[in-house]
Formats: sequence, structure tokens, C-alpha cells
Amino acid sequence: MVSISFLGGCREVGRSAVLVESKSGIKCMLDYGIRFRGEERLPYSTNIENLKAIALTHSHIDHSGGLPLLYKTKKVPFFTNSISLAMTEILIKDMIKISNYPYPFGYREFDYLKQNSYFLKNGTRQKIADNFFITFINAGHIPGSVSILLEVDHKTILYSGDINTQISNLIHSANYMDIPEIDTLIIESTYALRKHPPREQLEKEFIEKIMNVIDNGGTVLIPAFGVARSQEALLILEKYDYKGKIFIDGLARKISKLYLDHPDFIKNIKSFRNALNKAQFVTRPKTRANIKKSNGVIISPSGMLKGGAAIEYIQSILVDPLSAIYLVGYQVEGTPGRNLLDEGIFELKESRKNKPNFDLRIVAQCDYDYFDFSSHSDGIHIHDYIENLNFKRNANSDIFCIHGDNKSTTSLASELVNKNYNSVAPETGEIYQV
Ligand SMILES: [Zn+2]
Ligand SMILES: [Zn+2]
Repeated sequence: MVSISFLGGCREVGRSAVLVESKSGIKCMLDYGIRFRGEERLPYSTNIENLKAIALTHSHIDHSGGLPLLYKTKKVPFFTNSISLAMTEILIKDMIKISNYPYPFGYREFDYLKQNSYFLKNGTRQKIADNFFITFINAGHIPGSVSILLEVDHKTILYSGDINTQISNLIHSANYMDIPEIDTLIIESTYALRKHPPREQLEKEFIEKIMNVIDNGGTVLIPAFGVARSQEALLILEKYDYKGKIFIDGLARKISKLYLDHPDFIKNIKSFRNALNKAQFVTRPKTRANIKKSNGVIISPSGMLKGGAAIEYIQSILVDPLSAIYLVGYQVEGTPGRNLLDEGIFELKESRKNKPNFDLRIVAQCDYDYFDFSSHSDGIHIHDYIENLNFKRNANSDIFCIHGDNKSTTSLASELVNKNYNSVAPETGEIYQV
């Protein structure tokens, strides 16, 4: 028997962490993320004696943010790849710097993590212990993202991590054709209840709207996540041969440069380099005043308008009827981005360390819209993914649905039960034997 402990990311998106233990007690941790709000932000604590390996699916902090905690006392091998480690470093250091939350670790623990890291190529079977192996498989979610295949005591478990099986411009989509037969699947459910619009059509609508604003003399703000989505937006502009000015600011600038240093993880590094060459990096805050009225496109985090360099532009864009704000990621309820879409009002209560008492409330006079360029599979694609996997005959075909809100995880599990899988949406702290 192999036991699987779900330490977080259960019926929620946040603090993803799964502990797999062999019958001889060897343990491997898959992801160790944080939750973005609330008192309890780290995974459910458990006995991690005999932890022999930690493996990371990708750099987003709901998967990576808590990792330094595991390096307070231990020196466990950390399996990742070069781009995920580099991005994790930027994101975790940023998280520690801007957060008011007293994380029980700092830069020193992150350095220990770095010293213990090993880069694993996709498709290479890595031994953790006797009868315990891990293999990375491209997950198509962001550059460097992987699913993890575990072979433990002759059981094969696939942990999907965050996956995208659909075509994007920045990276290759998830590869699930070559996955060997499995006994157990742990799958993300983020958008199990949603249906993404057809990609080509969405790209065309996006570019048409942008061209309209530019032709009429306005400026377009694209508040995008710094990791992947900003660069995806840039590549769409490149694909449709947008000739106007492009500015890249904030974290998007830093991450774009980092991608250039890791060309193996980018689908078409040549067109990415071309696109970046045409864009201007905003390095001096002073220049932002001119960029606001530049009649160009500004790509700048944060994706849900909760902060970041986008806020530096938003005040003047919002009151200009010729300009526009085009959101390119899902807007969580309660975020300023969602409020703008629902109410037409931008409201920000800034409570970050370095900006006390900075409040804004502006009624939008500009155009605003949302384009669903998701980096997660939707319900149809999750079902396709599962149907294309080969489950071992006579196995229970266990499928655990995690990484989604209560409704998404439990609905996906019951849809799978209807298809005769043995499926459940585990709760935090639960342990299953497979
Ligand atoms: Zn992710
Ligand atoms: Zn995630």
C-alpha cells in the first residue's frame, strides 16, 4: 500500500501540497505552496521524518511558496528544473518582501533550498529510493511546468499539477500521449465547471479591440500576471503583426528577461525574442507619465489589479474615454479587476507594507473587457485528458480531484463517479491508501 496525504489545495486553490509515502516509510513531497489570504497560509502540518525528496510542478506560489519552510532543519534533495527554480526565487522573494504576513522563514531558508536543488529533465526517471521513482512530464501550464509520475512499490501515480492541454503561443501544450499505464490520478479541477472560448476567435477579438483603441488615439492597458500571461499577450500582438508601441513594466519585465535565458522552455524563442525586441521595457518610473498617453499598449502586472505597476497607469487610463483596460486572466471575486468588470468602478484599498493609506475609487470612462486566455484546461479538456490516460486493468482507477473550489472539485469527482471511476474530492488533512 502507498499512502497519499493531502496537505492543502483541497477544495480550494492555494497551498497545494501532497505527501506520498511508500510502505517502508519513504516520503516524497509534491509541491508545498501557500494560500494567499487568511490566518493559516501554509500546508497542513504533518510528520515529515524520512522525507527523501521534494518535487515541484511549477513556480506559482500556490505550489512553491511554502518550500523554504521545509529547509529550516532538513537537507532534502529538491527536484525541479532551471526555469522553475529561477522563477520561484523571484516570486518567493517578492512574496516575502511585500507581504504583511509573518512567514516563518526568510531568504536564508530559500538559499538552503537552492543549494539542495537538482534539475530533472522531462522524461528522465529519477530514483528516490528502492522502488520509488519520479518522472517529470510537460504540463503546458507555464514555462517549466510539469506533471509528476511516481512509481512507488509497483503502483503508478500521476500528479497532474496545473495543466493545459490547449495550444498557446508561449509554450507547448501538455503531453499526455506517452504517459504509461497508471493506477491513480491526482488532478487539478480549477476550471472543471467552465468552458473556455475557442482560442483563435478570442485572439482575433482581442487584437481587433486593441487596434480600434489605438486607431482612435487611445492607450491600452493590459494588466496581466507577470509570469506567462504577460508574455502570452505580447506574443499575440506579435502573431497579428501589431505595429504600434508596446511597453512592458513591473514583474513582467523581469520574467520576460528570464525567459530569454531559458530558451529550451519556450515554444518559439525566435518569435519571442522578436516580440521583445519591438517592446520597450519601462525601467525608470519617471517615464510612466508619458507612457500613459503614448497611444500604445502597456503590459503590466498585477493581473487582477490588486497592485503592481499597473496601478501607476490606471488612474489616467480610467478617465480617458478613448483608452481601454483589457484583462486577460480570470478575475477572482472581491478583486479590483472583478469589480471593474461587474460594476464599472475601480476601487483599491492599498494595505501593502510600503504604501500605507493609499485608497482609490474611480468610475471607469474608458472601455474595459475580459479575455479568457486561460493557462488551465477547462471541463471538456480535463475529461478528454482523463479519457486519454490508460488506467491499469483491475485497478481501482482512483482519481483525486484537487486544486479548485468546493463546487469544482466535488462536481468533477461526481462526474467521474458517473463514468465508473473511483473518484473523490479529498479534504485537507485526509490520508488515502492506494
Ligand atoms: Zn499554476
Ligand atoms: Zn495552481
